[in-house]
Amino acid sequence: MENTDAKLIEKIKTLQQRKNAIILAHNYQLGEIQDIADFVGDSLELSQKAAKTDADVIVFCGVHFMAETASIICPDKVVLLPDLHAGCPMADMITAQRLQEKKKEYPKATVVCYVNTTAAVKAKSDVCCTSANGVRIVEKLADAEQILFVPDQYLGSYIASKIGREMILWPGFCSTHIRIQPQDILRLRAEHPQAKVVVHPECRPEVTALADAVLSTGGMIRFAHETEAEEIIIGTEVGIIHRLRKENPGKRFIPASEQAICPRMKLITLDTVLWSLETMAHQVKVPERTRLKAKAAVDKMLEVG
Ligand code: SF4
Repeated sequence: MENTDAKLIEKIKTLQQRKNAIILAHNYQLGEIQDIADFVGDSLELSQKAAKTDADVIVFCGVHFMAETASIICPDKVVLLPDLHAGCPMADMITAQRLQEKKKEYPKATVVCYVNTTAAVKAKSDVCCTSANGVRIVEKLADAEQILFVPDQYLGSYIASKIGREMILWPGFCSTHIRIQPQDILRLRAEHPQAKVVVHPECRPEVTALADAVLSTGGMIRFAHETEAEEIIIGTEVGIIHRLRKENPGKRFIPASEQAICPRMKLITLDTVLWSLETMAHQVKVPERTRLKAKAAVDKMLEVG
């Protein structure tokens, strides 16, 4: 660790204590951010952690919709996003207004929104889900006449294929996961015939079809601990490799594509985390009317777990 990093970390820790702040980091964050976080996890695990914390301040090292989700769950806490440009391109592929128009086309549809959406979109949805619980959530909607799934067409089509029912899919996608190509998996399988392949459901169907397991990032962490395989090909954003290697020193983790980097996730740095704690910016707060409606969709998800 560089001397400057050590100094930054010391300052962050001092301020964190003084302000009773918790640092939550997504599995795609830079290694140094994961290392200083109190908790590292996937979207579902981070929302569960936010719901339980006694801290007064949540420093959210992730993207904007994640900080909004924390604000929806914990309206009395100060939620900080160290860089306001850390947004999710997929979440920006749908707006509340466009969803409202779509709902008019399908008035009987139950709307399931992926957690990668703005609070305003969640407020117009019936239930939220993450990549960890999407299949379970949609399974519970057996009585729904139609399901409109937004905004990730690939997660939606993966869930639909798992439960064997059709859904109306919004044409959104993750601009990072689509960089992982079937050829990448085929080449790496040939080079590492003993390796297991795990990929995220945001990947294209041609990629998920080639995997041994399709898992959320939290699921990948558990898979890595439990599998007897010594080599694992990881089809998701490359930031997770840091944690996998740290927690499983005897195993080898190979990124399915070195191109799978989410530039927005990488905007959070030690400097911006320190700045955020010093200035108490940027505070993410969802307006109360939107929050209450969005909370109903998030609560339904948290009930299922
Ligand atoms: S990896 Fe994809 S879904 Fe996740 S924040 Fe980046 S663009 Fe959004």
